[in-house]
Amino acid sequence: MVDYEILIQGYAKEINDYQIASSAVVLLKENSKKIIVDPGTNRKLLLDELKKRSIKTKDIDYVVLTHSHADHALLAGIFENAQVVDDGCVYSWNGKIENHDGFIPQTDIKIMKTKGHDEFHCSLLFENENDGMVCVSGDVFWWWDSEDQNLDRKSLLERKDPYEKNHDELIESRRILLDVADLIIPGHGKMFKVKK
Ligand SMILES: [Zn+2]
Repeated sequence: MVDYEILIQGYAKEINDYQIASSAVVLLKENSKKIIVDPGTNRKLLLDELKKRSIKTKDIDYVVLTHSHADHALLAGIFENAQVVDDGCVYSWNGKIENHDGFIPQTDIKIMKTKGHDEFHCSLLFENENDGMVCVSGDVFWWWDSEDQNLDRKSLLERKDPYEKNHDELIESRRILLDVADLIIPGHGKMFKVKK
């Protein structure tokens, strides 16, 4: 079983000619392993949230990046002992790059390739005691702070993403996640239960 905590809810605001954004930052714990998914952009807030839990940056074993856009990946390097994991590989501080087998090493946390928003994009899936199958989706699902989150299946599937690379692949990724997950933590916006 995997424990999870949202350290920072993902946000995205448009302000005149610029944006303020950070991905959802999620802490996962399985056995003795501590994992940060998408460390985002807000260094101060992230360090404060870790401190509240008596966790130091050196205590993190893995940093998973759902994709390499900087609003998700900017702070990946602040965890001095962590290996970085993406949709296909595990990266170490000595420069070693290895393929993974579809799971975060030494855990049962599944890394599923979910193309569409980006060509190289993955989402995480794991079983939680209280919430069932939980998904950290990255930007397969995301909203501006100013938007209402319409959670009916058709809107979730077809919703247009201004930054998508391939709309058909994005719809397919959304379909897969909605079919398997009970609860989804989006890249930006509030987590939601999947209506079954
Ligand atoms: Zn994003």
